[in-house]
Amino acid sequence: MFLTGQQMKEVFLKAKKQRFGIIASNVVFDMQVRALVQGYNAVKSDGLLQMSSGACKYAAGETQDIKAGARLISAIAKVFTEQFPHCGVGLHIDHATPNYFDFIVYCIENNLVSSVMIDASKESLEENIRITKEVVDIAHRHGIIVEGEIGYIKGSEDEIVSETELYTKPEEALEFVKKTNVDLFAASVGTNHGVTKGENVVLRLDLIKEIDDLLIANGVERGLVLHGASGLTDEQQQTAIANGVVKLNKDTHYQMDMAAAVQAYWEKEKDAIVCPPDVPPDVYMPDKSRFDPRKWLIKAEQRMQNTVQSFCLMSGSANNSILL
Ligand SMILES: [Zn+2]
Repeated sequence: MFLTGQQMKEVFLKAKKQRFGIIASNVVFDMQVRALVQGYNAVKSDGLLQMSSGACKYAAGETQDIKAGARLISAIAKVFTEQFPHCGVGLHIDHATPNYFDFIVYCIENNLVSSVMIDASKESLEENIRITKEVVDIAHRHGIIVEGEIGYIKGSEDEIVSETELYTKPEEALEFVKKTNVDLFAASVGTNHGVTKGENVVLRLDLIKEIDDLLIANGVERGLVLHGASGLTDEQQQTAIANGVVKLNKDTHYQMDMAAAVQAYWEKEKDAIVCPPDVPPDVYMPDKSRFDPRKWLIKAEQRMQNTVQSFCLMSGSANNSILL
């Protein structure tokens, strides 16, 4: 079922208490929603779908109408999840920068999402706190939860590009959480957006624990969020969860999976649409039973579903749905 903001809050509280991680997966297409929700459901896990500003514009087609795109993705998520009463899935806005403030408010007021991320991390700390607090006040009035961030996460994800890495300072994290009252806090601890390998990342897992301990010691415990988690090893992610992370963002890994699955299909089935060199073009017949998009797009969908299932087993969210 589709989770409200308050139910999503319950999911993250349970995850924090029992130290497991919720997999937050970026979506644009209906096929991704199907793959992910079926995957979460298959392993009895709750989950989060997230849409970036770029994804919403893409979903709207040539008009790039971000609000229409958000309504479309939200409708797909809501209708599809209705089929699974024992698996809770929410919808989140990923990395909305302050220039998308009106868009965030629109999604909150129209009940399109369960949670939102306001990413004002490029602003000064003072300005970041001011903007984030404003979003928190509006969101909480509607029962929607909010993720905030300080520090930059290196790499590029959609419209978010940063050449530099700036590790989050624990004392700034404490000030930020206290003053904004965000529900989820994204710390910058050395992960990268995009394609990376675990061994090349200067990951500060100790910093996650330091931030978590400091927040707990000051009575403002929160779920921490790990961005750029696609390139990390299972062990790195499990340590991050043990140290206080409750939300692991996944985008790049799925993209690579989907491309690889479709590529493998067409490498094998090329002659369904391309005349082989040893066949005369006048006798060649394309094969509808193999070029029907349902035949090859399903390969991407199945691969993505398998991947999210393995993520949930790795993060411990499997068999831990609040709806069981
Ligand atoms: Zn991110």
